[in-house]
Amino acid sequence: MGVVEKPHAVCIPFPLQGHINPMLKLAKLLHYKGFHITFVNSEFNHQRLLKSRGPHSLNGSPDFQFHTIPDGLPPSHIDATQDIPSLCVSTRDNCFVPFRNLLDKLNHTASSNVPPVSCIVSDGVMTFTLKAAEELGIPEVLLWTTSACGFMGYVQYKHLIEKGLVLLKDESYLTNGYLDTVLDWVPGMKDIRLRDIPTLIRTTDLNDIMLNFIMGEVERDFKASAIILNTFEILERDVLDALSSMFPPIYTIGPLQLLQNHISDNGLNSIESNLWQYEPGCLEWLSSKEPNSVVYVNFGSITVMNPQQMIEFAWGLANSKQTFLWIIRPNLVIGDAAILPPEFVTETVERGKLSSWCPQEKVLKHPSIGGFLTHSGWNSTLESICSGVPMICWPFYAEQPINCRYTCKEWGIGMEINSDVKRDEVEMLVRELMEEDKGKEMKKKAMEWKNRAEEATRPGGISHMNLDKMVNEVLLSK
Ligand code: UDP
Repeated sequence: MGVVEKPHAVCIPFPLQGHINPMLKLAKLLHYKGFHITFVNSEFNHQRLLKSRGPHSLNGSPDFQFHTIPDGLPPSHIDATQDIPSLCVSTRDNCFVPFRNLLDKLNHTASSNVPPVSCIVSDGVMTFTLKAAEELGIPEVLLWTTSACGFMGYVQYKHLIEKGLVLLKDESYLTNGYLDTVLDWVPGMKDIRLRDIPTLIRTTDLNDIMLNFIMGEVERDFKASAIILNTFEILERDVLDALSSMFPPIYTIGPLQLLQNHISDNGLNSIESNLWQYEPGCLEWLSSKEPNSVVYVNFGSITVMNPQQMIEFAWGLANSKQTFLWIIRPNLVIGDAAILPPEFVTETVERGKLSSWCPQEKVLKHPSIGGFLTHSGWNSTLESICSGVPMICWPFYAEQPINCRYTCKEWGIGMEINSDVKRDEVEMLVRELMEEDKGKEMKKKAMEWKNRAEEATRPGGISHMNLDKMVNEVLLSK
């Protein structure tokens, strides 16, 4: 009898931090399920990973290999993470040919060590990959790295345009109450307002780059063999029910972070995807603090703020008198480097730690963390849920407002800060989160959601079973 060839999945994330992290987790899970993996990073990010994490972070194993394609941006584009429209247009318009060439190369060099490519697992906003799958006659699944409610928000763009709700007449529409318009017709959602819908509709131009980019991606999603969401059924049941009647099969296989806990170390633990270098010392510092005593502040990889907003957060934290760990990414503040008032630094030196980037999943799991001041990115939200940590939300971009809405209103584990942030509100909410009954109630609910997430991902749990189903019904289908 001949040797049965391994299936070979090519995994390609959109080249941003919040997309690479969940794709890497999924790739490791597929490797555990017996797939040969080719993981495709942009050349730009590959170099960053080598710099920030060292070569060991990309030393896979013979059956887990990294390859790169250019993102199509000119080399002068220093930091692609800060110009998302250019990155979106560039990947859409320039990546197909190098991706297709890479697949050809993999297939031509196929040997007993590298089987021919048998399926593609692509980011949901990299639908140019669908054409390659079609040409090769292989299945492709799309991983949307958003929440289901965020995805539904994007799906509604077409209807919002049809209903004449998208275009803001001018900038004043951002603040004149227009965004409070209630949308009572969105399937699977209740009490949703225009302001909760992903922010790319906040434009005065129907030709807006991001609006059109995302609508094109959603439109092409219908051609995928299946869609994967990093969420779990009980968390977003109504919206998932509504989505499943609109799209190719949808498999919820989250939280991927917890699903991963159930696989033994397949030698890939050292592979990491952090684009920034960790500043050492955060975990040691946390270990010197009491349980549930520290507010963790981190706005993810894309959010930017102006210097005044930073100062409001700083004084809000200082005046709350709580202990805090604040991660200030090097490019978090627009303009000059982040400058905090010297009095703030002196006043909080005993109970505050500032750092530039940290291993967030480990930080959130640390028993000293009592609350998370977050921008409501989906990975951060899910990581907080997995650790049973309640949140204060300051949403900034894309689907963060709807994640915030669900965190606060549906799941009862968050409180929102006004986008025009003021120190008094920060102080009040941080105290409420860390010291008052509302905070305790949110902590209790957060622990309940954590337990449900664990149930979904343990053997026999729905996300655990969905992963197997997706593999058998889609990736291994001929
Ligand atoms: N992250 C991290 N360390 C940091 C900040 C962020 O490891 O100091 C990780 C975080 O755990 C998450 C990702 O970066 O997995 C950010 O994704 P998210 O969807 O929350 O936000 P985005 O950066 O896409 O806005």
